[in-house]
Amino acid sequence: MQRQSPITPQRPGRKFVDFFPNHINDFQKCPEYFYWRHIRHQWVRKPFSRALQVGKATHNALAFIWNQRKDGYELPDDFVRLATMHLDESNYPMAEKEGWPDDVHTVAGHVERSLSVLGGGLSVISVERELDHELARASAGPRLRVQSRVDLVVRRADGVVEHVDYKTGKKWPDVNQEVMSRVVVRTMLSAGDDRRASLVSTTLYSADGTKVSAQLSREECRPVWEGIVAAVGAIRDAERWSPEPGRHCDWCDYRERCSVRGET
Ligand code: SF4
Repeated sequence: MQRQSPITPQRPGRKFVDFFPNHINDFQKCPEYFYWRHIRHQWVRKPFSRALQVGKATHNALAFIWNQRKDGYELPDDFVRLATMHLDESNYPMAEKEGWPDDVHTVAGHVERSLSVLGGGLSVISVERELDHELARASAGPRLRVQSRVDLVVRRADGVVEHVDYKTGKKWPDVNQEVMSRVVVRTMLSAGDDRRASLVSTTLYSADGTKVSAQLSREECRPVWEGIVAAVGAIRDAERWSPEPGRHCDWCDYRERCSVRGET
């Protein structure tokens, strides 16, 4: 006998009002997955991952550097020392400790490549800041916001504002994140003196220094944005969370509980 997909006892909109890119990605992938992860908060502890440690340390080291720059200090150039400061050896279990020195050099490489690809002549607007944009709402409905943590926003010498997302792992474009970041950055700029600035969205793959920049028109962003707003509305109104099986089931943490993949 097949299980029923889960029903939420109340509409999540009453308490679920802030939407980050991972929420939208998870819901669009599989509503039942979204339910287990974000409504029921069934977090599954992941095994230790050196790649994850390298990713976090790279983000932290770059944030440190750009905050230094924002405060008027020169950029440091001893990247190995900087990586040593940000890659916490005490996070490594005994069986993995011998990999730590190599990972320090990997982080240093990610940082050095990121800085050299971004170039000079930049003035820093924000670093690792959670920005938001409030969606228009029905009069009695809850206040819903899309949010994004934007790695870096800078003003280039030509006056263009660039928002940057670093990726230390595989190259895959996250269009929801790109468009949500763009919307929240535009909202931030609109509240200040930069409302007319041209905006460039950049994804920087620090493993090899590839920089992918897009100057998307309103028309190009629109279908992605409409999909995001539709997902927010569907989450707000959901009473049942249907499974959406696919290749992603192979690495789903909730297979055992799933209404189609779980034990009956
Ligand atoms: S196993 Fe597949 S269908 Fe079931 S919750 Fe996970 S992703 Fe969704």
